[in-house]
Amino acid sequence: MTNLRTELIDLNFLGYPLAIAAYLLDDGHEAALVEVGPTSTAETLLQEVQARGVPLQRVRHLIVTHIHLDHAGALGWLLQRLPNATAYVHPVGAPHLVDPSRLIASASRLYGEMMERLWGEVVPVPQERLQIVRDGDRLTVAGRTLLAIDTPGHARHHHVYLDEATGILFAGDIAGVRMPGTTYVRPPTPPPELDVEAWQQSLAKLRSLPIRQLALTHFGLYEDVARHLDELETRLLDWAQFTRALIEQGVSDAELIQQLRDYGNEEMRTQNVNPSSYDLGAGYELIALGYARYWRKKLGLA
Ligand SMILES: [Zn+2]
Repeated sequence: MTNLRTELIDLNFLGYPLAIAAYLLDDGHEAALVEVGPTSTAETLLQEVQARGVPLQRVRHLIVTHIHLDHAGALGWLLQRLPNATAYVHPVGAPHLVDPSRLIASASRLYGEMMERLWGEVVPVPQERLQIVRDGDRLTVAGRTLLAIDTPGHARHHHVYLDEATGILFAGDIAGVRMPGTTYVRPPTPPPELDVEAWQQSLAKLRSLPIRQLALTHFGLYEDVARHLDELETRLLDWAQFTRALIEQGVSDAELIQQLRDYGNEEMRTQNVNPSSYDLGAGYELIALGYARYWRKKLGLA
């Protein structure tokens, strides 16, 4: 137990620090990654793993919180280069890793011609190297157990993983986006699967867990768990009401994005937080479009 390591790797997405993290878990015998980022940063990931004294043959487990490309896009590419590794994924996400055509189509609608530059190639994951993880499963990896907890709201294919040895919760996107050195938490609410009520239920689950640290993919480790989750939920609901009112008025998507950007950035300015530092992890455009889709469906305006 003494040589359990958990290390944050900054994937330096598009050359920017503090945008996307992966976490390396190692006990000296085997290693795991929680989150792997997109293929565009996969070379960096492998270099950083080896720079930490972990040979690639030792990496046996690639665990992703959900299948969005900034968390899991590199899986297929990595499996071609990590001969001993197995990928672990939520049952709802699994078919879209084996055949990523719908995943790519969905992301292409959001990112258009930026797809390749942002994410790189999305290589299919061979079925035989994929293990499906269900709510309540415990994975024994790198000298510890990781408890998987189904946490919809941001996406239907989302798990968090609690490291029961250390109390670190690998939170994916359900615990929001926060930059080191700040307390401000932004809710990433992209289309098409945002579900505010499910998100609240997932946060209630998190509050019932013995979490010592939140390990966010965007970005880093935080110990003020209860305060952080409260701030996230407050803003998730506040922005829901803010966007609902505008959608009921019939504003355009462009207007909705602009109004939410002004509203959010003003909040951040009062806390002396740099808004642009959050935009790579969760930009206003996708946040606003996620709420728009959620409300139009819920209010029967779709
Ligand atoms: Zn996501």
